[in-house]
Amino acid sequence: MGLPEVLERIERACRRAGRDPRGVRLVAVTKGRSPEEIAEKVLRHGAFPLGESRVQEALKKMEALQAEWHLIGPLQRNKAKFAPRFALLHSLDSLRLAEALEGVGAKAGVRLRVLVEVNLGREPQKHGFLEEELPEALARLKEMPHLEVLGLMTVPPIGPEGLVRPLFRRLSELADRYGLPERSMGMSEDFEWAVEEGATYVRVGRALFVD
Ligand SMILES: *Cc1c(COP(=O)(O)O)cnc(C)c1O
Repeated sequence: MGLPEVLERIERACRRAGRDPRGVRLVAVTKGRSPEEIAEKVLRHGAFPLGESRVQEALKKMEALQAEWHLIGPLQRNKAKFAPRFALLHSLDSLRLAEALEGVGAKAGVRLRVLVEVNLGREPQKHGFLEEELPEALARLKEMPHLEVLGLMTVPPIGPEGLVRPLFRRLSELADRYGLPERSMGMSEDFEWAVEEGATYVRVGRALFVD
């Protein structure tokens, strides 16, 4: 598909939904890709934020590429100290991690920007809070002055539109309910549904790199 076509599809999805395309940001997911590939397939087209799922891999690429880095995969508590290297953590999935990050933020004198991951598909192997755990979790997070909760994130099960689209809609409803502006949802297979349902960040990898 390539990045220009992904952008076009985002714009068309915005038009269908009556949304301003400037309200949707493309996070280019670069896990498993070399700095050369990233330069050619992504950064040649503009300064897009780059999403990585592993801290170690991200740190290595940070030495080679100037970009805004987002962490989109699970962060182990023993790697929380690296969180300030990322402009946004999409995958805050437990209060224990939040406490570790609060400590890191306090020590570094910064406020870490995070999204709270919600396991809307209730899949046991997936990370994130269950929907019913959100009210208490968000209340606890509000008491942590070095965390700035900007929104919600979800990774739905792989499945047909009838399964996935309602989960995207649900994430938007929950973000609205809790007064959170950002919704990170949608990958290569389903980003157009996500945009139509209110995504403010889409995390697209494969579609940028394969023709
Ligand atoms: C890999 C990954 C993506 C991108 O997936 P593609 O299918 O390559 O578009 C998005 N979000 C998360 C959390 C990922 O791990």
